[in-house]
Amino acid sequence: MPNPRHLHRAQRVLRRLGRGLSRKAGPDRRAGARPSKRWQRARARLARVHARVANLRRDGLHKLTTRLAREHGTIVVEDLNVSGMLTNRRLARHIADAGFAELRRQLTYKTGWNGGRLIVADRWYPSSKTCSGCGTVKTKLALAERTYTCATCGLVLDRDLNAARNLAALAREAVDARSGRESPNGRGADRKTPLAGQVAVKRQPGTAPAGQTGTVPPQGRTTNHTLTRAH
Ligand SMILES: [Zn+2]
Repeated sequence: MPNPRHLHRAQRVLRRLGRGLSRKAGPDRRAGARPSKRWQRARARLARVHARVANLRRDGLHKLTTRLAREHGTIVVEDLNVSGMLTNRRLARHIADAGFAELRRQLTYKTGWNGGRLIVADRWYPSSKTCSGCGTVKTKLALAERTYTCATCGLVLDRDLNAARNLAALAREAVDARSGRESPNGRGADRKTPLAGQVAVKRQPGTAPAGQTGTVPPQGRTTNHTLTRAH
């Protein structure tokens, strides 16, 4: 999934403008000095770039979520342990940049436009550690291991693709469970989401090392996963 990194790209510009601002004579409450005209202009320049960055991010995210909701009936996201991940400073900026909460909010209502829906896998579901072939759950999977290799059945698959397949299987279970409950005359019966339209939007809950966040449960205690409807 493309990550809108407009902020990252604009950071150099923001830093330069910020330095320029600090070199000019700003307001000084203790000395009673009023800001110079140059300082005021520099501050306005900085504010314009900040506003532009915010607009770019908002626009990019809306385009992404509209496209995802239009092209796919059912979308699966993993419920990220965002507060836990934010304690990892390197990850924190990426998550803040991607605006995950906003992404999820937009997907929730936009999938509804087309009769689809957003499915949220709970944050402890071991999507990366589970073999999509035989269901074996690894106790350990380093983030650096980009290829999933199953010691049980011999499956070799790209890490993210393996996780996406697990999430797609979860979504299938959810769709089956839902359609099984509905009466044949039910309003939603003929609008059942085709399985081919599913996509798993992969977010990595396992990217925060367990020892650093203190919020990731012990290995192997993650089998009791649930699916919840976001709307
Ligand atoms: Zn396997």
